Amino acid sequence: MERDPVCGKTLSDAEVDEVDAGTSRYATKKEQAGRWHYFCGLMCRMKFTGNPVAYLKAEDKT
Ligand SMILES: [Zn+2]
Repeated sequence: MERDPVCGKTLSDAEVDEVDAGTSRYATKKEQAGRWHYFCGLMCRMKFTGNPVAYLKAEDKT
């Protein structure tokens, strides 16, 4: 299970597997500082790409 650092949505293991396999319709992922982050959709990935540090800081607080 992975958490979208932008909107906080949880992606199930099945959804993560689909992203890894490239078969997911909406969900996607991006590597940042050696770690893969998963997103529910392209909009969240775009927001994250624009300012990854802000989203990763927010994630650390929780
Ligand atoms: Zn999202």
